[in-house]
Amino acid sequence: MPRYYITTPIYYVNDAPHVGHAYATVNADALARWHRLVGDEVFFLTGTDEHGQKVARAAEENGVSPEAWTDRLAPRFQDAWRDLDISNDDFIRTTEPRHRRAVQHFLGRIHDNGWITKDTYRGLYCVACEQYYAEDELLDGTLCPVHRRPVELLEEENYFFRLSAFEQRLIDWYDTHPDAVVPESKRNEALSFIKGGLRDISITRTSIAWGVPVPWDEDHVFYVWYDALVNYLTAIGYGEDPDRFAAWWPAVHHLIGKEIIRFHCVWWPAMCLAAGIDPPAHIQVHGWLLVGGEKMSKSSLNQISPGSLTAEYGVDPVRYHLLRDTPLGSDGDFSAEGMTARYNADLANTLGNLVSRVATVVGSKCEGIGPAPAPDSRLAAVAAAAVTEATAAWNAGQPHLALEATWRILRETNAELEVAEPWKADPGSAVDAVLGSALEVLRIVAVLIVAAVPATAREIWRRIGLEGSPADVVLPGALEWGGYPPGRPVEKGEPLFPRRK
Ligand SMILES: [Zn+2]
Repeated sequence: MPRYYITTPIYYVNDAPHVGHAYATVNADALARWHRLVGDEVFFLTGTDEHGQKVARAAEENGVSPEAWTDRLAPRFQDAWRDLDISNDDFIRTTEPRHRRAVQHFLGRIHDNGWITKDTYRGLYCVACEQYYAEDELLDGTLCPVHRRPVELLEEENYFFRLSAFEQRLIDWYDTHPDAVVPESKRNEALSFIKGGLRDISITRTSIAWGVPVPWDEDHVFYVWYDALVNYLTAIGYGEDPDRFAAWWPAVHHLIGKEIIRFHCVWWPAMCLAAGIDPPAHIQVHGWLLVGGEKMSKSSLNQISPGSLTAEYGVDPVRYHLLRDTPLGSDGDFSAEGMTARYNADLANTLGNLVSRVATVVGSKCEGIGPAPAPDSRLAAVAAAAVTEATAAWNAGQPHLALEATWRILRETNAELEVAEPWKADPGSAVDAVLGSALEVLRIVAVLIVAAVPATAREIWRRIGLEGSPADVVLPGALEWGGYPPGRPVEKGEPLFPRRK
């Protein structure tokens, strides 16, 4: 059975979950669900990043220990993902003992292999990013380019990872793995950064205590980023369960935001090579959801919580919008107006309308019993084309294209009904053929959307009289025209997506 290991970045525990986090997590969830649907063995990982100066300072400001602080905050992400119907198989917290062991093992291997040296480091550091910046990267020469706040001059004795020794090996790796980083623009960005020359990087701190201790020198802790990246290995048994680790690594699919390209596409593959394991096989880079033209962040006060959106629109409409509106790889603008407009156009007027009118007319013309689809329906070819396109898009990690193709079948079916007007015709074989074909479209669509909007797909499945779940069908057979079994009761029910003002 093919395996599919997908990860989100782990989120900073003292950030409040916002729509930017939800965007990445819902997309990863839909891809995980799709791969389960096609029969892959799936492992879907998300979690929280809980070490570092920023967390320690926040705990201190709140008068509690870092342990108590992170225990208090981590559930906000767990709760947010439960509310959004996220199907992660594991939730990793970097403060867990299993992670401390994996970090020490991984960085210990790099040290044993001779790729870590001690030196003095002096640099301009943004506490919020947990990152040093070169002077020419700063805004106005003094401000963090992400947070727009002053950086601090820090000097400390550190252990350095000899990244510079991996320049050529990374270039070779990119050459032999042309599809490892997508989209291509992001691959080129990472590669040109590597070709511009790599400096050794400081990977430990003595100035903070809240981190994983360096096993060969306990005055130091690992810098939070090099601890965090290892989460992808911890969760699949690195250092503890070699068979399990070999089953899942390196065939991983990292979904990451474009602000963390260097960490994932340069540092991380080099560290894997230094530790003697293969670099990650796939890194898919997504853009930002902007609000009023700016990235969502604590400092710009433009955060929107996923909970406030699901309370307003419902879970599946939020999932649908996040999957459909902003292609993975591009930046998108998030606004309530945009979300309402798409909700009305796609969910209320297209999908909801089709479900409701088909059930209503089956009720009035077929005594509520679903007829058989017509083998020669024009919709059979429309569905087949959309199935091919949607399947390819899901497999390529592009949910927005999969949904776009799927909605084409729905629009064509609504148009077909408007031409045929079965609600005006006398009951009989012509009406049966039209409605049976529309029911067949709903069956196929339920399968195509179950990874995106699972509760909606299950409800459509139930209303058109099918048993089980659209998530449990066998592909590709279940997407072929003609599978709807006639003679099942079709239920009208409440509107799935009432129109919004
Ligand atoms: Zn910053």
